[in-house]
Amino acid sequence: MLRIYNTLTRKIEEFKLINPPIATLYTCGPTVYDYTHIGHLRTYVGNDILRRVLETNDFEVKHVMNITDVGHLTSDEDAGEDKMEEGARQSGRTVWEVAKFFEDHFWKSVETVNIERPSIVAKATDHIEEQIKLIKKLEKNGFIYITDQAIYFDISKFPNYTKLSGQSLDDKSIGVRTDVVIDKQKRSPVDFALWFFTVGHFADHVMKWSSPWGGGFPGWHIECSAMAMEYLGDTIDIHTGGIDHISVHHTNEIAQSEAASGKQFVRFWVHHEFLLVNGEKMSKSKKNFYRIDEVTAKGFDPLALRYLFLTAHYRDKLNFTWESLQAAQNALSNLRQIVRDWEEPKIGCAQFEQDFMASINNDLNLPQAVAVMWDLIKSDYPTSAKAKTLLIMDKVLGLNLEEILGKPVEIPSRVKKLIEQRETARKSGDFKKSDKLRKEIKKMGFLIEDAPSGPKARAVVN
Ligand SMILES: [Zn+2]
Repeated sequence: MLRIYNTLTRKIEEFKLINPPIATLYTCGPTVYDYTHIGHLRTYVGNDILRRVLETNDFEVKHVMNITDVGHLTSDEDAGEDKMEEGARQSGRTVWEVAKFFEDHFWKSVETVNIERPSIVAKATDHIEEQIKLIKKLEKNGFIYITDQAIYFDISKFPNYTKLSGQSLDDKSIGVRTDVVIDKQKRSPVDFALWFFTVGHFADHVMKWSSPWGGGFPGWHIECSAMAMEYLGDTIDIHTGGIDHISVHHTNEIAQSEAASGKQFVRFWVHHEFLLVNGEKMSKSKKNFYRIDEVTAKGFDPLALRYLFLTAHYRDKLNFTWESLQAAQNALSNLRQIVRDWEEPKIGCAQFEQDFMASINNDLNLPQAVAVMWDLIKSDYPTSAKAKTLLIMDKVLGLNLEEILGKPVEIPSRVKKLIEQRETARKSGDFKKSDKLRKEIKKMGFLIEDAPSGPKARAVVN
């Protein structure tokens, strides 16, 4: 039985599907006006794990993720700047080229840490009609008002607006918005834009579409509601995102969707905690946004980063340091080294499989699941039985162990020859020469271990 913490009820609940065996999952995707960094990757690996856990529970997962490729207007640090349009102006590229460039970087980044693609990837710019349709519904139901600059959602018409965050409406983090332009006709600072007209400040906004109310472009929040409901129905099983989305973005998604359909929008809200870097929150000013290409350039395996993410619970902060990544790399290399010599998978170890399942089904307790995996590895079962169970575990962990399991490293004949020469030198007491040869062999990527049965070579692991 799968149990997950639900942000909406603030409780760990038994996970039940609306329409078994199909589990509908919506995850907020990237905003493609900047590079994907390791903080984002923690959230996407978290979503990937959730999806794999659902699949391991024999649910058929229908997973939708959006790509925000419309320049939008609010952020904590750069209030008042439309980053995509600004980025395009500065680099001499079109907004479409900027979006494409960063979308490509996103896919490359998530693929290197072995994240599976969602069943449906929905771009905001391909779904303008659906967004307009949703705004029309909200208009018909009496939840909007229109100013010269924008169409707003009227919070006063939607009771229990802050039910997801549990905040009070006076709370500064929801009351104060980083609006680009002061709109004097806006009725409450908490109201949020569904559509911006390309007038005044936005007169030369490149991305624009016609609408029944006038030309312009959608606000950010409306795309997720429109696309989630379009592909997954009015009520979906699980919606995820980073914890920074709770008080505004997801709160607004609930307001829009429920005001339009009159039904509950999401049964389970799952939120991932932040990644800290050297104990600090990631931020532009601290320049601690590491990208996956920066991680691999330092010689790390991208899956070491994935391993590191597995060692913390998704609702706990995780502190990234190069030392913690090195420790994860060592653990992963050690794991690979061990399983290379294992026999063909057979039978399996039921108790370890049960313990693993119990861990992942206990609010996705991956650190515990990883500990169960190591208990299995250190156990006295035959390697063939351990191999079978490990591959089952790896369907969730995603460390690509199948590629390595039972495949000892081939030792090239040149290396074999050097090993023989070293053995001769060692036996004749020429330790200077044998040491020199050992170093040479190491340079070629192999370590020598002197066992009673003779020297053994194994690949150097980084
Ligand atoms: Zn979203």
